Amino acid sequence: MISGPSGVGKGTVVRRVLERHPEIRLSVSVTTRRPRPFERDGVDYRFVTDERFDELVASGAFLEWAHVVGHRSGTPAAPVERDLAAGHDVVLEIDVQGARQVRNRVPGAVLVFLAPPSMAELERRLRSRGTESEDRLRVRLATAEAEMRERGWFDHVVVNDRVDRAAAEVEAIIQASRTPTEGPTHP
Ligand code: 5GP
Repeated sequence: MISGPSGVGKGTVVRRVLERHPEIRLSVSVTTRRPRPFERDGVDYRFVTDERFDELVASGAFLEWAHVVGHRSGTPAAPVERDLAAGHDVVLEIDVQGARQVRNRVPGAVLVFLAPPSMAELERRLRSRGTESEDRLRVRLATAEAEMRERGWFDHVVVNDRVDRAAAEVEAIIQASRTPTEGPTHP
């Protein structure tokens, strides 16, 4: 599970990992946010209304969900359970509040915090994306600062200085998590 401030490049790092490991599944989140240009429904997110999101919450469909800068996003539990049962690793790309819920509810989950090299670099990246108004950018930066303070309880902190290097580190973490730490003891 990968978390960390918005704009830190989680999507890019995760895409790089998945390109090299097609056996890993990515959880598609449900969100009440509006699609950005080039986002595809069912691929990047499942885009739903507030009413539909309420129904999904009420029916217990979410593994976790959170209020994220003015909207709600959540991980539907069924596809994650199906992919895990089929023997796949599943990557969730979610915010820190969601990560805390996963920590409490999924004992075997491996939590990775992706950190920017610095807050100045994070601001530069958010601005260059150019999808936010100044107000929303300020909210995202303040949220990012609060999220950075939470990184201590993650299993791993990976600094996204270069995408290739960060992706390689995440791959190594996933591979290490596959190796059983306890096996049958041989006489
Ligand atoms: P964005 O709006 O840029 O796609 O995402 C904003 C934030 O929402 C990111 O930090 C992203 O990781 C988080 N996010 C996306 N999907 C989920 C989800 O299903 N659950 C939670 N808790 N956060 C999510």
